[in-house]
Amino acid sequence: MARRRQIYEGKAKILYEGPEPGTIIQYFKDDATAFNAEKKGTINGKGVINNRISEYVFTRLSHIGIPTHFIRRLNMREQLVRQVEIIPLEVVVRNVAAGSISKRLGIEEGEPLPHTLIEYYYKDDALGDPLVSEEHIACFNWCSHEELQDMSSMAIRINDFLSGMFAAIDIRLVDFKLEFGRIWDGDYARVILADEISPDGCRLWDINSGEKLDKDRFRRDLGGVEEAYREVARRLGLLQNEDSGPGEVLDLNAHRGRLRNTAKPVKK
Ligand code: UDP
Repeated sequence: MARRRQIYEGKAKILYEGPEPGTIIQYFKDDATAFNAEKKGTINGKGVINNRISEYVFTRLSHIGIPTHFIRRLNMREQLVRQVEIIPLEVVVRNVAAGSISKRLGIEEGEPLPHTLIEYYYKDDALGDPLVSEEHIACFNWCSHEELQDMSSMAIRINDFLSGMFAAIDIRLVDFKLEFGRIWDGDYARVILADEISPDGCRLWDINSGEKLDKDRFRRDLGGVEEAYREVARRLGLLQNEDSGPGEVLDLNAHRGRLRNTAKPVKK
């Protein structure tokens, strides 16, 4: 096979030129970073799991009418997506206080927020992705007012859908990050959901035990990182051979005791 042209290498993914114009191949790596890449590591098998989880989530979202860049999964670590012009904003949706909002505003982690919050961060590694307001976005023209409205209304719909989807498998969707991109149709631009949705960019807590099933296990050295990612995939019904059903005891954190897993994987 002809060598593919690499377009970009990020912290968790590599982008290659796709087979047709306007397409891109997303390759999911096992590499993990945190705190603006100050902490680096590898989570074995993460790329395979995130490729699968993101495929599943994007497909489900397309079924409720959210336009996404996802075309199809190609293999264990790669998916074909539409090429977009990435809007330089990280759109964070929060249901429960955790992470940076807890630190910044002194709200205890786990405190449910009075209502869902949407925040915007300017995508710039050198600046450490600073929190920005709608006024900054308009002032520096990172996207138009209409695009921002489209992104925030999609973010709310995505949050409602994913909160229910995860609640059905005993997972609380605490917060998550979205990225959007523009596609051009002549002079007309449309905003669609891009990047990925996986435990790398979401906070997912077991509803019963509060156990973290996301990248905070890596960020905070909690152990059981691979197991947590696999557990999310298993509950979503994506690891068919490992569906051992309710009552399975999952060893997430040997030094702190064992998480009793009672969530059934979803039936497809
Ligand atoms: N997030 C992300 N990429 C980033 C920053 C945040 O995917 O560069 C996700 C993160 O996993 C969490 C949510 O966005 O689910 C909110 O993150 P927060 O602002 O609390 O930042 P953190 O505590 O991760 O520094």
